[in-house]
Amino acid sequence: MAAIELRDVRKSFQALEVIHGIDLVIPDGSFTVLVGPSGCGKSTLLRMMAGLEEVTSGEIRIDGSRCDHLVPSARGMAMVFQSYALYPHMSVEENLRFGLENQKMAKAEIVARVAKAADILQIGHLLARRPNQLSGGQSQRVAIGRAIVKEPKAFLFDEPLSNLDAELRVKMRGELIALHRRLKSTMVYVTHDQVEAMTMADQIVVLNEGRIEQVGSPVELYARPRNLFVARFLGAPP
Ligand code: ADP
Ligand code: MG
Repeated sequence: MAAIELRDVRKSFQALEVIHGIDLVIPDGSFTVLVGPSGCGKSTLLRMMAGLEEVTSGEIRIDGSRCDHLVPSARGMAMVFQSYALYPHMSVEENLRFGLENQKMAKAEIVARVAKAADILQIGHLLARRPNQLSGGQSQRVAIGRAIVKEPKAFLFDEPLSNLDAELRVKMRGELIALHRRLKSTMVYVTHDQVEAMTMADQIVVLNEGRIEQVGSPVELYARPRNLFVARFLGAPP
């Protein structure tokens, strides 16, 4: 069953349509990368999945059920942003606990989930720190930890590594792939970086100006780009 399905999804800001009827299936458990140039609509599409932006028309389904009327917290998805979006006045541990305490989860369960996330991301030694005492890579680990503790059906990443230096970016790519293998959750990953798309994805969705140019595995898109845009964008010979 498809974890996330979009049917003829459109989005307008005022009179201007920026997403022009997207049909897409994001298979359960896949690592799907949405890639395309700046301004093509990647963040808007992800934000509509998360419920942070309303769809203008069309449907979004999770495991077959329509979710486009549900508030973000009811969709079972966790989003990770490029800017980390940690609460500056809270410790790392409080950042990790906050969303769970809001759900009135049992204390023992919160403790267990925070410990597990800290272990997976190796941030146990940072729990007492404030966000301003963390490096960029540590901040992004905490932001990912805050998603993991929710045990979401799907993770939505919006260019999570763009603020990190090149070396750390490569390391974190590997860690995210390892996380995907370990958790087996659906992950939707937005990037404008072709290398990230080619090296991380099971399924790549190439977007351009609010439309899908092609969907396929990295090998398929490289070997059989459907048009010149895909060929040029992914660096394959046309
Ligand atoms: P990407 O993430 O691929 O860079 P976005 O989804 O941020 O692209 O933006 C897609 C298009 O929608 C752009 O033309 C952008 O200017 C426009 N857009 C995004 N958010 C808004 C908004 N809140 N109001 C008006 N236009 C917006
Ligand atoms: Mg964006």
